Amino acid sequence: MTPAILVIGELREDKPTDASREAAGVARRLVGDAPVMGLLIGSPVEPAAAGWCRDGVDTVRWLAEPPAGGRLAGALVPSLLALLSEGSIELVLLPSTGFGRELAGALAARWDAGAATGVTAITRTAEGWEVRRPVFGGRATETRILSGPRAVVALRPRSFPAPEPREAPAAAAVQAVVAPGPWAAGPTRIGSEPVVSGGGPALGDAPIVVAGGRGVGSSDQFRLIEELAGALDAAVGASRAVTDAGWRPASLQVGQTGRTVTPQLYIAVGISGAIQHVVGMIGSRVIVAINSDPSAPIFKVADYGIVGDLLQIVPALTAEIRRVRGR
Ligand SMILES: Cc1cc2nc3c(=O)[nH]c(=O)nc-3n(C[C@H](O)[C@H](O)[C@H](O)COP(=O)(O)OP(=O)(O)OC[C@H]3O[C@@H](n4cnc5c(N)ncnc54)[C@H](O)[C@@H]3O)c2cc1C
Repeated sequence: MTPAILVIGELREDKPTDASREAAGVARRLVGDAPVMGLLIGSPVEPAAAGWCRDGVDTVRWLAEPPAGGRLAGALVPSLLALLSEGSIELVLLPSTGFGRELAGALAARWDAGAATGVTAITRTAEGWEVRRPVFGGRATETRILSGPRAVVALRPRSFPAPEPREAPAAAAVQAVVAPGPWAAGPTRIGSEPVVSGGGPALGDAPIVVAGGRGVGSSDQFRLIEELAGALDAAVGASRAVTDAGWRPASLQVGQTGRTVTPQLYIAVGISGAIQHVVGMIGSRVIVAINSDPSAPIFKVADYGIVGDLLQIVPALTAEIRRVRGR
């Protein structure tokens, strides 16, 4: 029998994120013509639902964010369980973002389901859902079967193609429904710290990331990284050496104890390539390294390498990109 799938999407600027669109496309591919239910968390915006339907979902539910708690996964789980109890959902797909991973674990525990995060491939087999995901910093790939009757799978952003838009679905299919509360007593946000993105696109979503390391030399000189990122409309990232030195905030840190990013292009400038950094960016499609030391480990994972002084190379690169882009 064709499985029933629920896709949980995230909104940014009132639109489903690229990772949410990819998840809708994966669900559509898994079920063929069978229905796919979508759930968007945030304020209900009809055009967002309509666009998402063209990506692969058939019906869209809305779940308002808890009024006081913000986007805390644990606070959403009771409403999700109520929604799941309505039908015969076997599989929940969602983006493997920080929020998605948190929600996947919280939901799977309460729904009594198998769970996998960071998944880069999923297929249906006779034994259950077969999922694949990189482990040990991308050095190996794990294949696992989620054999129970229910599964929650978080899909790694940019590991699946953007869905081909379908014909506009029937009007009824895009009717938004607010899932019922009430918000259960659960986690409460007791404080928050603004995420500093470095001025450009958000680090987790950006198709291009320019990251700087200790080799940049100083907080002042780190503006070279920001200028190159600006010329490319890229997000700014940093190694831990940079954030520990206080040159830039911890929210820009990429790596084991920072963010995991999977952009189309990752430019590592003055970064040695310590394994703790590499695990956070090894999933990037193309890696370019700029480093004065030809034996720096970063070159082992780079697709393209430039050996030289970043203080000369980066300004020249920025100027050339601005010239080519007419800026
Ligand atoms: C438990 C744990 C967790 C960690 N988590 C993280 C993490 O999440 N993210 C992270 O990044 N690190 C993490 N680290 C730290 C990590 O081990 C490295 O110390 C750190 O990544 C080094 O940062 P870096 O490459 O910027 O600096 P360095 O290793 O000092 O490298 C600087 C590089 O710049 C090059 N360079 C110098 N001058 C120039 C120039 N003028 N032009 C071009 N190149 C130049 C040098 O050749 C060198 O390769 C962690 C460590 C531990 C123990």
